[in-house]
Amino acid sequence: MSDATADDFRTAARATADLVADYLDALPGRPVWQPMDPAGRAALLDAPLPARGRPLGALLEEIENRVMPAPMGNGHPRFFGWVNSAPAPAGVLATLAAAAMNPSSAGGDHADVHLERAVVRWMAELVGFPHPPGGGILTSGTSMATILCLAAARNRAARLAGCDLREQGLAGLPPLVGYATAESHSCVRKAVELLGLGSRNLRTVATDPDGRLDVAALRAAVAEDRAAGRLPFLVVASAGTVGTGAVDPFEPIADLCAAEGLWLHVDGAYGAFGVLDPAIAHRYAGMARADSLALDPHKWLGVPVDCGCALVRHPEELRGTFSLVPSYLRDEAAGELGWFSEYGMEQTRPFRSLKVWATIAHRGRAGISADIARCTALARRLGELVEADPRLELLAPVETSIVAFRYRPAGADERLLDAVNRELPAAVQRRGRAFVTGAVHRGREMLRACLLNSATTEADLVALLDEVRSAAADLTDHQLPAPGRPGATRTSDGDFYRQVTGDS
Ligand SMILES: *Cc1c(COP(=O)(O)O)cnc(C)c1O
Repeated sequence: MSDATADDFRTAARATADLVADYLDALPGRPVWQPMDPAGRAALLDAPLPARGRPLGALLEEIENRVMPAPMGNGHPRFFGWVNSAPAPAGVLATLAAAAMNPSSAGGDHADVHLERAVVRWMAELVGFPHPPGGGILTSGTSMATILCLAAARNRAARLAGCDLREQGLAGLPPLVGYATAESHSCVRKAVELLGLGSRNLRTVATDPDGRLDVAALRAAVAEDRAAGRLPFLVVASAGTVGTGAVDPFEPIADLCAAEGLWLHVDGAYGAFGVLDPAIAHRYAGMARADSLALDPHKWLGVPVDCGCALVRHPEELRGTFSLVPSYLRDEAAGELGWFSEYGMEQTRPFRSLKVWATIAHRGRAGISADIARCTALARRLGELVEADPRLELLAPVETSIVAFRYRPAGADERLLDAVNRELPAAVQRRGRAFVTGAVHRGREMLRACLLNSATTEADLVALLDEVRSAAADLTDHQLPAPGRPGATRTSDGDFYRQVTGDS
């Protein structure tokens, strides 16, 4: 601890605890998010490399004054953006303790390694996935978990085709083809590209009108690829799409994968934990039949970022893909399962398991299930509020805890609606009272509100919709006639469209 004495550290640690507690206390009363003021932004961007050090207390002051006033906004009960949750308090505390221990959780006989084995098993138990010993690993997030799972799927397919892919690479194999819907997360395509499979070999399978994978279309696509001499090997299904929260029909997909010898990977990053809500658990039937499941404790569980998790049915597929033990890492005591670093890309690995352990241990299975059920119930309520307002339109059924909707005043044409709804999320965000993000769904600009925070209330939902309507009114204000003001002219939808899109 270089120049800080043990007493300096203790004093600063206590001050840190107060700072963090004050921050979390004050959060709900603050704007959800605000653009940073230019001076504050510049102070961070242009911070000079310090020539000399400063005491811990001075650093804390700077964190308090320069960093903590400008949060992303997740953490606030009226943050509905993307899939970013509030941090679980137990997870925040555990992060500090984990950093103090600072192990590399690659392997060995220390607490963090054994704790990771336990919390990975807890993940599997929470979502009802089979868990053979060694059947999972914590990762930075689902993007990395997806790379691990798809790499294992690829290597199995190559092996079954008589090729040792680790030695020979992909050359000599027919094109390996995977299947996913247009609703699947971009990390799937990134993984396919990175693994050298080529994004053109990731088929886009049609969906039903609610965004769920169309199994007949999948069957037809597999047959067509086989007939053309290609090698179908992978289906990626979603346990909660990022756009609308749709859950794919796992049973028929798993049947098809079993019949065709395809690896079934489920992306449960956001939504897998929805299975804990008895009201929607039935939608997840068959998820446990997957070969691999990626999920994100750093989303719905609120484990502080970063923490994803890959679960696999056959641990040896993962280990066979990544295990490489150089002589300087030999560990006779590692036991049958070996090291975590044999199951993924990371060698030096952070102590993620403590914050997962703390988050789950604090709430328990019952508390977590109640939090999840509260979010899905609030989401359904938000869906009702949207449907009850003639200026708003619900664009997809509320399946999990994402509500996909748009502003749609009577009589507006589609071009105008797209222009307004594209601008709307940023306009709502700038107002600071609620935070919502947008996406394109089935060709239409929309807003999507994701509910992950069990501190959110129905009043927060009402506030969100008030903000959406007010921001939309601001955006379209100039084109409405001011009542009773002669001479006020109504500009056309086209004028507004040009104004917000820059088209001329
Ligand atoms: C967030 C998300 C991902 C990517 O996970 P990261 O943890 O951000 O790497 C993949 N799929 C879905 C459905 C997600 O919500």
